[in-house]
Amino acid sequence: MFVPKKLRSDPDERGHFGIFGGRFVPETLMPTLLELESFYLTIRFDEDFWEEAHELLHRYVGRPSLLYFAQNLSEELGARIYLKREDLNHTGSHKINNVLLQALIAKHMGKKRIIAETGAGQHGVATATIAAFLGLECEIFMGAKDMQRQELNVFRMQLLGAKVHAATSGSQTLKDAMNEAIRDWVSRARDTFYLIGTVAGPHPYPMMVRDFQSIIGYEARQQILHAEGRLPDIVCACVGGGSNAAGLFAHFLDDKAVQCIGIEAGGQGKDAGAASLKYGSVGILHGQMSYYLQTDEGQIEEAQCISAGLDYPGIGPEHAYWFSQKLVHYDTISDNEALEAFVWLSQKEGIIPALESSHALAYIYKNRATIHDKVVIICLSGRGDKDVAQVKGHLSEEN
Ligand SMILES: *Cc1c(COP(=O)(O)O)cnc(C)c1O
Repeated sequence: MFVPKKLRSDPDERGHFGIFGGRFVPETLMPTLLELESFYLTIRFDEDFWEEAHELLHRYVGRPSLLYFAQNLSEELGARIYLKREDLNHTGSHKINNVLLQALIAKHMGKKRIIAETGAGQHGVATATIAAFLGLECEIFMGAKDMQRQELNVFRMQLLGAKVHAATSGSQTLKDAMNEAIRDWVSRARDTFYLIGTVAGPHPYPMMVRDFQSIIGYEARQQILHAEGRLPDIVCACVGGGSNAAGLFAHFLDDKAVQCIGIEAGGQGKDAGAASLKYGSVGILHGQMSYYLQTDEGQIEEAQCISAGLDYPGIGPEHAYWFSQKLVHYDTISDNEALEAFVWLSQKEGIIPALESSHALAYIYKNRATIHDKVVIICLSGRGDKDVAQVKGHLSEEN
């Protein structure tokens, strides 16, 4: 049965991964974070909790997800390519793993109301889904501009019974929604659980969310040992905040023979995309120290790339640490390369990937000359149905 694993890079008691991470929050939030941390530490390795979690992950999410041998890709690339099929989860991505487990913790802590921020709406929809399933009150904070751009996801959340609040400050996008959510949390911490969507935020969130998503790596490790009788040479995942990547890497980081590769969205042309490690610098936002896209004066810049789910201008602090220690190799993929990989997987395997996941696929495709005969696992973090209209727009623009 899945139980999280202590990593060598686990943070210290104050949530530091090297110089990164921490707990940079208003004083009024400290008791709430300490309450969450001490609760989490009581269940982190608790068999009863994980038995209940295991049952829900199986019955509601549909886990374990397949480790799919992509025969057509493998033949084309002369390697052995496996896809970890998080796209087959209920609601179509890995996000549901984290959301279900945080909501379960909220329930055990006696919190009746969950709040979340959302950018394009994917984390908001996952949160509203689980709130309906577990009978919790749910309120979502979303940038006013994002609400216009993602009308259908706003409707989905409302349909699922959630209330959606427009964040009207700043650029009216994800970082503003996060600020509003934190403000709400400060005022109602007693009955409210703040459900963060990736491996970011103040301690203990980055560690906790990585633990939750590490079910991806836990399963993939067993599955590849069963299929190949050995560990993979490469595991590769896209990085927005970094949760699907951290979850996959968690069970391979200690193996020197396995190379972990994280792919940021490089955007297109001269802008920095959402590549916080490549183009960003160290700063503090949303309760943590990490890498951010920011101006010389420390103003956070809006991320610009083709996939909404990678559009966070920062990255989780554990990734910043892995990057600084060279434990994981990071690279970027451009919008056009991701689009090509989107079409490539669709036509080669009959699987339409999320644009986010297409970044990881594109990296393997681009580096095909170096992966001969290697065993590769790519995290297919989500399905691409949500992206089809957008891709159609881009492809007709090109012609
Ligand atoms: C949200 C999302 C991502 C990016 O989030 P991470 O925390 O970096 O995993 C990647 N893929 C899909 C399908 C997503 O919905």
